[in-house]
Amino acid sequence: MADIVLERDRAWTNYHETQAFTVAEHYRYIRGNAPAPDGPALFGASAQRLCEHLGALPGRAAAGLLGRAWSLSDIVGNPARQLELDQLDGIAWVEGVHLHHRTRLAPRQAVFVGGGATWKQVADFVENDRQSPRTIVTSGSHLAQSVAGSIGTATGGSRLGYGGVQNQIIAIHFANGPGRSIWVERASDPVIGHVAGDLCDTVIRNDGVFEDALVHLGGMGLVNGVVVETAAPARFTMLKMTKPVDATWLSWLQAGDYDAIAAWLGYPQAPVYYEVQVDPFAWDKTPAIHTLYLRTEAPLIDTPAPTRPNVPVAGLLGNLGWALSRTDLGAEACTARPAPAANRFPDTEPHPAWCQDMRNALADLHAYYSTCLITPTTPEQSGAQTWGQLHATPPAPSQKALIYSAAFAFSQDRLMRALPIMSKAVQGRPRHFLFTLRFTRSAAGTMAYARFPRSVVLDFEGLKVTPEIAAACEESLTLIHRALRSARIAFSPHWAKLGPIDPTTIARGFGPETDPESRIARWKVTRDLLLGAEGKRLFRNAALERWGLA
Ligand SMILES: Cc1cc2nc3c(=O)[nH]c(=O)nc-3n(C[C@H](O)[C@H](O)[C@H](O)COP(=O)(O)OP(=O)(O)OC[C@H]3O[C@@H](n4cnc5c(N)ncnc54)[C@H](O)[C@@H]3O)c2cc1C
Repeated sequence: MADIVLERDRAWTNYHETQAFTVAEHYRYIRGNAPAPDGPALFGASAQRLCEHLGALPGRAAAGLLGRAWSLSDIVGNPARQLELDQLDGIAWVEGVHLHHRTRLAPRQAVFVGGGATWKQVADFVENDRQSPRTIVTSGSHLAQSVAGSIGTATGGSRLGYGGVQNQIIAIHFANGPGRSIWVERASDPVIGHVAGDLCDTVIRNDGVFEDALVHLGGMGLVNGVVVETAAPARFTMLKMTKPVDATWLSWLQAGDYDAIAAWLGYPQAPVYYEVQVDPFAWDKTPAIHTLYLRTEAPLIDTPAPTRPNVPVAGLLGNLGWALSRTDLGAEACTARPAPAANRFPDTEPHPAWCQDMRNALADLHAYYSTCLITPTTPEQSGAQTWGQLHATPPAPSQKALIYSAAFAFSQDRLMRALPIMSKAVQGRPRHFLFTLRFTRSAAGTMAYARFPRSVVLDFEGLKVTPEIAAACEESLTLIHRALRSARIAFSPHWAKLGPIDPTTIARGFGPETDPESRIARWKVTRDLLLGAEGKRLFRNAALERWGLA
C-alpha cells in the first residue's frame, strides 16, 4: 500500500544548494511493496493516495512538489510544506490492450512512467528489456532528473533536429486532488484508449491543452505519471576534440549544417548530437571543445575503451570537474565546504586555502583551454554505447554546489551576430565561466524556453565558489542579456537555472498576457481548467509568483 509520511522541521537544500531552509511540513510519498500488475494499475494506486493527500491539505501553503530538486531557481523548494515524490517511480510498457484505436503506436513502443522516476530509470528499463529493447531519444547531460520535474522546465540536451526531454511525452496523468484525476493527451495523436477513462475523472484530448500542460513550471498540478514514447535501439560513439573555430564554422552552425562541421572535424558522417564549448573571451582564437555523437554498428562496450581520452564526458560541468581534479581541489572542496546556508550563497566563506587556489587555478581560462588539448579518437577506438550508457555518469560530487549554471535560448538564425556580441559584452570581465552551445529544434510545450523553431541554447557555466565569484558571473550574464537586447536579438532564459528572469523578460518572449492568443494567456487558461481556484493556491512556487504566472 502506498503511503505518505510526514517529517516536521526538516533541514533541506536543493542539489546545488542555491536554496537551503528548514521545511515545516516535509511529506514523502512511499510506494509500498505490492508490485502493480500493469501501467494503469500503477498509476491508479498512486493517484488515489496522492489525491487524498492533496484534498486534506489546507490551501494556504503550496504543496511544494519535489522531483530531484536539481533546479537552481526557486521554481523548486517551499519552506512551509513539501512533497517528495522520488518513490513515484513505477514504469511499465504500454501494451496493445491499453492503446487507443486510432493510435499510430504499436504495443511496447511507449512506457507508463511515474512522475518521480528518473530518466536513468526509464533508460535502464527500456534499453535492458530482453524481449523488445528500445531507447530514449534525448536527455540533459545527466539522467538523474525526474521525468515530471524535467519536462516541467523543458530540460534539454543537443540531440540534433529534436526538442527537449518533453518532446518524448505523449500523455500526462495529473492527480490534482479529489475528483481531479485528469488524463491529457493530444487529439491529433491519441495514445491511450478506454483505460484512461477508467483511471481518471476526466480525459482531455486537446492539442492546445496538452502543449500548455507539458511545460508545467510546477504550476499545473501533480504529475502522477506520463507516457513516454521510446525509439528503436541505437548505438553511438562519442567523440570529443579541440579545434579552433572561425567565421566559416559559425556560418555552418547558423545554417544547421552539422554534416559540414563533422566532415571538417574529420568525420564525414551525419552526427546525431553536437555541442561545442567556446571561450567567451576569444571564441575564434582559443581552441573550442567539440563533442559529437555518431551512429555506429560497433559492438556495445560496458566501460569506455582504454584508448578513449581520459576526460569526463558530461559537457562543461565535466570539464570544470576535470579542471578541479587537476588541481586536486575537488576532494578538498567537498570536505572544506561549510554546511549549506540560507538563500543563494553560503553565509560563511568556504575554506580560504582552497578558495584562493581555486581562483588562481581557474582565473585564466586561456590557460585552462591550452592545457585541454584532447587527441581525437576514431569511432573504433571509442566503442559504442547506448544513449542511457552515454549519460549514465552522475555529476562529480566535487562539483556539487560549486557551479554557477545559467542558460538561455535564442534563434539559431541569429547566431552569427549573437556570438561576437556576447563575447564583446564580457571583455575585461573575470574569466570564471565558459559558453556551451547546444541546439534544439521544435521544442514542444507552450512555455518551452527554447521557443524558436531552431534554438541555440547557450549554457553559461561558471563557478560560485565564493559570493564574489558568483556575483561576477551574474554581472557578466546581465551584460550579455543587455547586449543582446540592444542588438534586438530575442532570447528566453532557462526556467530552472540562475540569472535574472523577470515578468518583463517573460512577457517579451511569451506575452503579452492581455493578448488572449499569447502563450502566457493560453497557459493560464489551461491552468484554470486543470486546477480551479483551490488548486491554484496549492500548485504554485516562489518563482511563478515572482514571474507573475501563479
Ligand atoms: C547537475 C545538473 C545538470 C543539469 N543538466 C541540465 C541539462 O543538461 N539541460 C537542462 O536543460 N537542464 C539541466 N539542469 C537543470 C535541470 O534539468 C532542471 O532543473 C530540471 O527541472 C530538474 O529536474 P528535477 O526532477 O530535479 O525537478 P525539480 O527541480 O525537483 O522540480 C522542477 C519543477 O517541477 C516541479 N515538479 C517536480 N515533480 C513534479 C511532479 N511530480 N508533478 C508536478 N510538478 C513537479 C517542481 O515543483 C518544480 O517546480 C541540470 C541541473 C543540474 C543540477
